[in-house]
Parts: sequence; structure tokens; C-alpha cells
Amino acid sequence: MIGGQELPTPAYVYDLDEVADARDAAFAALPEPIELYYAVKANPHPELIKELASGEGRVCRFEISSSGELAAVRTAGVAGERCLYTGPGKTALELDEAIGQGVRMFSTDSVTDFERVAGVARRHGVIADCLLRINNVAANATTGIRMTGVPSQFGFDSEALDDTLPRLREVEGARIRGLHCFPLSGALDEASLIGAFEHTIELALDLERKHDLALEYLDIGGGFNAPYGVPGSRESYPGLGPALELALDRAFPQWRTGQPRIACESGRFLVGSSGKLLTRVTNVKVSRGRKFVILDAGINTFGGMSGLGRLLPVAVGCDEGEPVEKASLVGPLCTPGDALGREIDVPSLREGDLVAIPNAGAYGLTASLVMFLGRPAPLEVVVRGGRVQSRSRVEHVRSYDV
Ligand SMILES: *Cc1c(COP(=O)(O)O)cnc(C)c1O
Repeated sequence: MIGGQELPTPAYVYDLDEVADARDAAFAALPEPIELYYAVKANPHPELIKELASGEGRVCRFEISSSGELAAVRTAGVAGERCLYTGPGKTALELDEAIGQGVRMFSTDSVTDFERVAGVARRHGVIADCLLRINNVAANATTGIRMTGVPSQFGFDSEALDDTLPRLREVEGARIRGLHCFPLSGALDEASLIGAFEHTIELALDLERKHDLALEYLDIGGGFNAPYGVPGSRESYPGLGPALELALDRAFPQWRTGQPRIACESGRFLVGSSGKLLTRVTNVKVSRGRKFVILDAGINTFGGMSGLGRLLPVAVGCDEGEPVEKASLVGPLCTPGDALGREIDVPSLREGDLVAIPNAGAYGLTASLVMFLGRPAPLEVVVRGGRVQSRSRVEHVRSYDV
């Protein structure tokens, strides 16, 4: 029961009060005037975007990577000027739309990408502000999570900048304003997050000096963590602020007055804890002594980023002292891959029971195989102060009008 109404399942319920708390917690951890981009891919629901874009204190900017994400932020009332457009495969068509909607800041990943942004900007009679995403030659030793230092579609190889920069500097319609680094996602703990940021700040200073970059803007990436589909609360980062101030004061003494402007990014931390997925048990089956709890939500509803190699299982909340048993939580799809958890501890479940999967606000619907097997997308319910603010559903319909 949410706001006195029985909800059909499966349903995502997003709590805007929690989104606001996460936004405020993130900014509390980030010394002023560090800017924060919300990575819209974590959850493009316009009401969540709107919450992150508003509030009494500092508010988010938006990292987008497609026309669909641009439409989501525009629906939420966010101006294109507040967006950073990223991604290694930007097309002229989507760039035309983005620049037409006021987007000026782009993270670029290759010479072709940079030239394409510039070409569209020229046609619009504007100058695009480009960040060079950096794929640093050395991975960050302190975290052990290797997202740079390997061949990648993302970023300019740092060791090749001597060759690439002269070409980029000749391009009309785009200026190199700064650097973008995104070496880490889901840092294991605060020390790893701090280590990654310190490393990135040193790298940026090093590149600025080596290549005479005169940085106006530095996006140091993210790594803020939050539980995913299991109970628990957001990480807290009490030591991050002082560590960032120290590192930035050392590398860029004028950063507090915006030289360069410093930004970081987050998806899961900002919206993960705001959402839960409600699903109902449609059947309980025993096969060769193993129990299968069949839910009305599978990887079409909560994909667990299965296609992206991030594994579930989810956990189902139990009351303290409640007996648990082993069972597999599976969905309704015609594939054995449709499992949210195999042989995990669950309370004794029966047909008709409601199951709540916590911390499902990030990479929930957006990371799911929504089209697979043709079931309707789940309901999405937005609540504030315990009251329903909206109910909506994403529709997938075939249109011949293309
Ligand atoms: C996906 C993405 C993020 C968000 O990552 P989280 O782990 O959800 O915080 C931030 N920046 C970029 C460039 C991304 O691609």
C-alpha cells in the first residue's frame, strides 16, 4: 500500500525525499564550488532529474549521452547549458539536436568525435566547449580497478597527446576547455575514492604542464557508491572534502575562484537508495528438491545490468529472527537466464506474496531487457512525503511512421 492505494506489480517506487537527501549528502561531501553531474543513464525519470536540479542549496548538472537523455532532462525543465554531453559514438544528427537545444559542453573521445562536434557547432554558428576525455597510460594503482590504461573506445590515449593536440587545436568550431577523467565506478571504500580523485588531479596538472593546456574545466569523474538491490545505506564520505581541498589547493591554487572549474559525477549514489522494486510471487515450484520462487519481475524489469556484466543477486528483506530458506528467485521469462538470485536466503514465500527489492533506484528499469518477451514495462510511481506524486509507465509500441 502506497498512499492508500494497492499497486499493481511489478512497480518501481521512487521517493523524492530520498533523492533530495542523497543530493544534499553528495554536495555536503564536496567542497564549494565543486560541481556535480548526475549521470542520467542511472535513471532518466524526469521527476528524479527535476529533484536533482532543484533545492535550496547547490544543485546538480546533468551528464547525458543520447537524444533520449536530452529529452528527459528537457522534460524536467533543465536547460541545455547545464548539460555535459558524453559518449564515444556521437552522431551528427544527435549533436545537431543537442546544440540546437543549447548544449555547449561536450566530452570528446577521439579526433573524429571532436571534429564532428566542431562541424555541427560551426553550422549553428557557435563554439563548442570540449573536454578531452583522458585514457591515461597508467592505471590508478591505489584502487586496483582498471578502467584506464587499457585500449578503450573512451578517451584520448594520454601518451599520444603530443600528436593529437596539434590537430585538435586547428579545428574551428570547438575549443579545448579542459579534461574529463572517469577512471572508477563504485569505489569500494572512501580511501579508494579519495585515491582515485588525487590521482586524477595529479594527472590533470601533469598534462596541463606538459601540453600547455591552460585548463578552464576539469571533470574528475566519480566512483561514489551505493548498495544495489540489497539492503543497506549509501556510503558516507566524511574525509573526502578535506582530502579534495588539500589535493586541489596543491595542484590548482585558484580552483576556489573557478580556475579551473572542478566537477565530478555520480549516478548510483544520487538515486540508488530512492527506489525499491515491488514484485509479486506468481508461483512457487519445487524441482528435484530445489525451490523456485517465480516473480512477476525478471531481468526484463530488474536486469541487474546482466548484459553489462554486473551481477545480482538481490536480497529480500526479512524481519529479524524470521526463518529463512534457500530458494532461487526467478522471473517469468522463457530463458533460464531470468534469475534475480540463485539459491539465496529468502523468507518462506507463497503465491501472492509481495516482495520488495531495496536500493533499486539506479540501473533498475534503465538497465533491463525491457523488450524481451514483450511484457509491459513496470509501473513507475513517484512519491514525496509518503504521498503518490505520479504514476507512469514507459510504453514500447511499434511505429511505422519512421
Ligand atoms: C555511468 C557514468 C557515471 C555514473 O556512474 P555511477 O557508478 O553510477 O556513479 C558517471 N560518469 C560517466 C562518464 C559515466 O559513464
